[in-house]
Amino acid sequence: MAESGDQESSIIKTFRNSGYRATPQRIAISRYILSSHEHPTAQKVYSEVKKNHPTVSLATIYTTIKILEEIGMIQEFNHPQSETRLDPNMKPHLHLICSRCETISDWLDSGMEEFIAKVSAEANFVVTGLRFDLKGICNSCKDDGVGGGSMTAAGELSRTKDADDSTIQV
Ligand SMILES: [Zn+2]
Ligand SMILES: [Zn+2]
Repeated sequence: MAESGDQESSIIKTFRNSGYRATPQRIAISRYILSSHEHPTAQKVYSEVKKNHPTVSLATIYTTIKILEEIGMIQEFNHPQSETRLDPNMKPHLHLICSRCETISDWLDSGMEEFIAKVSAEANFVVTGLRFDLKGICNSCKDDGVGGGSMTAAGELSRTKDADDSTIQV
């Protein structure tokens, strides 16, 4: 496929320009992380890459993650309920974190960059990174009828009986 070939050559180029060797394992790890929309853990990357590269080690996974972070291709963030997640989306975006299935979805809004610029200017604060999480119940969990917290129009938290987590972090 032309597309993955393009991605592969751009990974190789970026690695070499930054002084790193682009080994087949590092390329496979990078390709997996960069094309994933699930914010995978290092462990998940390991088990996926291992399918085609049985000799890959967890150490190589961690080294590659460090390189990708250093050259600005991915960012890491801590999931409130589980391990550190990897995120190849470097544009300002929100995370919608489902407290039931732990799915993390990206939400891009064109107003975000404007909002960040406004805060930065008004607070006289140079923004070098951001973290914006909305916790809640995703659409498929909601449809499953498992319940959980929801925000009312008034901004108060209404909860069903088995909601166990009432904190809203922004
Ligand atoms: Zn869910
Ligand atoms: Zn993300």
